[in-house]
Order: sequence, then C-alpha cells, then structure tokens
Amino acid sequence: MSTNSLASTTRATMEACGVTASLDAGSLTVVSPLTGEAVASLATHSADDAKAMIRTAKQAFRQWRLVPAPRRGELVRLFGEELRKSKEDLGRMVSIEAGKSPSEGLGEVQEMIDICDFAVGLSRQLYGLTIATERPGHRMMETWHPLGVVGIITAFNFPCAPWAWNSALALVCGDPVIWKPSEKTPLTALACQAVLERALARFGEDAPEGLSQVLVGGPELGEALVTSEAVALISATGSTRMGRIVGPKVAERFGRSILELGGNNAGIVCPSADLDMTLRAVAFGAMGTAGQRCTTTRRLFVHESIYDQIVPALKKAYASVSVGNPLETNALVGPLIDKAAFDGMVEALNEAKEAGGTVHGGERQDVGPDTAYYVKPAIVEMPSQTGPVTRETFAPILYVMKYSDFDEAIEQHNDVGGGLSSSIFTTDLREMETFLSARGSDCGIANVNIGTSGAEIGGAFGGEKETGGGRESGSDAWRAYMRRATNTINYSRELPLAQGVSFDIG
Ligand code: NAD
Repeated sequence: MSTNSLASTTRATMEACGVTASLDAGSLTVVSPLTGEAVASLATHSADDAKAMIRTAKQAFRQWRLVPAPRRGELVRLFGEELRKSKEDLGRMVSIEAGKSPSEGLGEVQEMIDICDFAVGLSRQLYGLTIATERPGHRMMETWHPLGVVGIITAFNFPCAPWAWNSALALVCGDPVIWKPSEKTPLTALACQAVLERALARFGEDAPEGLSQVLVGGPELGEALVTSEAVALISATGSTRMGRIVGPKVAERFGRSILELGGNNAGIVCPSADLDMTLRAVAFGAMGTAGQRCTTTRRLFVHESIYDQIVPALKKAYASVSVGNPLETNALVGPLIDKAAFDGMVEALNEAKEAGGTVHGGERQDVGPDTAYYVKPAIVEMPSQTGPVTRETFAPILYVMKYSDFDEAIEQHNDVGGGLSSSIFTTDLREMETFLSARGSDCGIANVNIGTSGAEIGGAFGGEKETGGGRESGSDAWRAYMRRATNTINYSRELPLAQGVSFDIG
C-alpha cells in the first residue's frame, strides 16, 4: 500500500466511523509507523479549550449522576452494538496509527466490546454492603455514588482499549469522561468518539451534552486535566516517567488517580515446563506488537538443566519470524512506533553488550521506506540481571538468564521496578503455588503456563510497584469511579452515642 493509498484508506475509514472533522486542517501531523509518512494533520485544542471541556463535563455530571444506573448501562449496551458494527474500521485505524497487525487491531476493539458487555451487567450490580451495627434500632449500610468528571490519558500502543476500559465503567458509574489520547494516535480516538456519538444519538435525551469529549494535543493538555480540581479521577496509562509527574500532581490537590504504567515483565522456565508450550508463549509475549506492549515479556529466567534446549529453540523461532508491514504482508512483527523507539533499542543493546551480554538479532530491517523503523526482535543472553535488564525498553528485546535455585530466581524476578505482569512455566505444583503465594511474584498479574501478555477484561488489569498499583477493567475496579458513603439510620426512639460517651444538654 503506497503512502497516498494509506492516507486515503485513513480518510475512508474515519468517514466510515462517522468522523466529520477535517483531517488536513491543523498542526498535529499524524504519522503511520507502517511507512513513517503523514496520513493526516489535525487541529489541536488549547489549554482554554481544555478548561471549557472540563466546565461542560462538570455540568454534564450534575445531570448524568441522577440517571438510574441500569439506564446508564443502556447507553453502554448501545455503544457495544455500535462498536460491533465498526469493529473492522476501528481495527484498521489501530493498525494504521500504532502499526499493529490486523488481528491485534481487531483484538483491541474486541476488548472494547467485551468491557461494554461487562459494564452493562455491572450497571445493575453497583452493590454496597449492609453492615451489622452496635447500636440498637439502627441500620448501617454503604452506598456508592457517582464520583465526578474522569480524565483519561492514554498511551500510543493501545490507542483505544484502555479508554474503553475506563469510559465503559465511568459511564455506568455516573461519570462524564474527557479523553486525552496519545498525540501519536489521535485519529483512533476521534473514530472511537464518533462511534460513541452514534450510540448517544440512539440513546436519547437522558444523556447530557459533553458526556464524552476528546482533547487532541500533547502532554500539556494531559497536564490541564491533571491539575484541574474539577477532575475527580485521573486515569493515566503510559510510561513510568509520565506517572512520576502525574501522580504527585493529582495527589497534591487530593484528587484520585489510577496509574497504569510500564512493565518490566518476566517469566521463569522451570525444569518440568512443557517446552513446546513455553516456547510459543514466550515468543508471542516477547515479540508480539514488536515488544511494544506494557505486558511484553522482557526477561526470562531459565533453569540451567533446560537452558541448552530452550535458548537455541528460541533463537531459531526469532530468526524465522517475519517482519514487515502487517497490512501488506502476513508479517507477525510490525514496525516500531518511531525513530526514538529505534534509538532506544540500539542504546539498550549496546549497554547490554557492555554488561557482558551476547546479542542475537536486533538489526534494522530493510522492509519499508527509510522513514519506517522495522527491526528483527533481539534475544540477549545475559550473565546476570544488570544494566538495561532492570528497566523497560519499549522494543522487542528479550533478556535471557540462567538460574539454578528456584528461590533465587523468584528473588531476581522481583528485584526490578515495573512489576506489572509475570509468568511461570512449570508442571510442578509446589513451584506453581509458591510463585502465586505471598513470597512469589510481586506483580499485579501472575500467570501459570501462559505468557505475560494477553490479559482479558474480566479480571482487574494492572501492576503493583512502579506501576502505580492501578486497577482498570474488571473485578471490583469500578469502585475507583465512585465514592462510598456510609449511612446510619436510626429507627428507634433513643439516641445512643458512641460507646462510653455521654452528652447531656439539659
Ligand atoms: P508516554 O508516557 O510517553 O505518554 C502517555 C500519555 O501521557 C500520552 O497521552 C502523553 O501525551 C501523556 N503525557 C505525557 N507526559 C505527560 C504529563 N507530564 N502530564 C500529563 N500527560 C502526559 O507513553 P507512551 O510512549 O505513549 O506509551 C508507552 C508506555 O506506556 C510504556 O511505558 C508502556 O509500558 C506504558 N503502557 C502501560 C499500560 C498499562 O496498562 N500499564 C498500557 C499501555 C502502555
């Protein structure tokens, strides 16, 4: 597909989703990593626009919080229907803007559909507890109320699903949303918003104006959300660097935040592992989306007894993997997002060599125009966990290390920041349960015999240390989008105070 046809495919796809905004009217150039060339240029919002959106959202909150939750769920049900109709188009936009393969693009949209289904059911299950009270003739209970305006900041590598995880829950919880997508993937955001607007049109007048808005632009617009007292919850997905700035700023104004940040995810391969299954899981986890997933497998600890089986087999799989434009070929590994990502990869590989590592692969591939950055995924055999192994490099680099003692492997596994996702490959019950126990993996996601990437929406998604401990999506993540009130009702004729307290007023 030539550049021109990519730009025209972009236009046709955006139009099919219902986007009416001009795609060549502004200063924000949108580049497709597939070819490295511009496919659109968008007008950006100003800080004043952000303030106006926040005011509108605040107004919308006053109305939306009063709409019964199951009725709010109806909007999300309609949104799920509209997403199903636009699945192909949105998936294509994900491929064009983020460089993902068609199946990965469609998979991301499917996650949006799934969270809508989840949220519709949830809209009838925003339960509080009834609590035993020590006071006679009283009843005590907790009630969950809508929280307020939710600001959603998202990363380039998942241009739509994290917004949907947040907004489907926020909408049923009674909260308006303002989305600041990555400046690298604003088109997908506008397409998603257009799809939601179709659902809003079908839903009718219960939905106030400004229930969902999109801010197009750079970090300064994220900052406008982060520092606004009128934004009750900031849910920010992105690098640990960004989280270190956003977290304290939200805390300073006593706002609430969900931070979904980087991951330096690892797997442990034990002597009893099913080797074939392990190979496939590690290859997908490490090379999928060209290593640009927060859950990408970045470190692998392999028991010394099987190291000489696993590592040559992995190297073989890496050597044979196809790299190229996933919209034009059947390539499994697509492009890096941009030159900065490529430079970061080169730097990490050089550091690894200096630290005694042996690098296999990692070279730039001549499979696209000069403006695109395609690389062969790299395996690096490391003598120990040092240098670049201890940080997230957002590229397809898998550091492999040998271990002899299982407890030592767990220590090493946990001895880095970014504890997002983890895996153990074993058929030994003791190893498996130890890995899942309090002295096992310290990550927010701990898996057995499946890779680190590929979470599903039913479970809470998120990490622990250095990831902000955020929780989005399933399980009880909805509570972050609501505020809890404890109510005590006295239906007796007495006024019992707290134990041991008397208060005579005459
Ligand atoms: P990034 O941190 O550069 O940008 C993410 C978003 O934050 C963008 O919208 C950006 O404009 C905004 N931003 C940046 N600085 C800001 C500031 N000071 N104030 C407010 N907003 C600001 O990340 P990226 O390069 O787009 O994405 C890759 C990173 O995201 C990786 O580290 C990856 O692990 C992480 N990620 C995490 C998850 C998760 O769920 N844990 C999911 C996807 C990506």
